[in-house]
Amino acid sequence: MSNDRDTEAPHTPGKPLPCRICKTLTAGATLAVYGAQCFRCYAAYCREPQPKSAFLADKRRDPKAWARALKAREERGEHLTLAQRDMWREALKSELAQHQHVDEGGAS
Ligand SMILES: [Zn+2]
Repeated sequence: MSNDRDTEAPHTPGKPLPCRICKTLTAGATLAVYGAQCFRCYAAYCREPQPKSAFLADKRRDPKAWARALKAREERGEHLTLAQRDMWREALKSELAQHQHVDEGGAS
């Protein structure tokens, strides 16, 4: 058995590209959903960075703590998926609008 196992499946949907973390060839559609990484790396990434106890404690006081956490992560330069960016912006829309309203005072 000396077949080359790197051969791509002919019916792979989307253009397979290497995951940006583990370099495993991954379908383009998957990369688009999980932020240029394969599902396994995305799952690991989700488990990793947030301190969960603090996050959950916050959530009781602030139902939008998750959105603020995502916003903070984006501001720190972390890569969020498009869906995540949309989600926190949607959740914090009213607050962002308020801030803009205050800022508009000077501009004409
Ligand atoms: Zn990966």
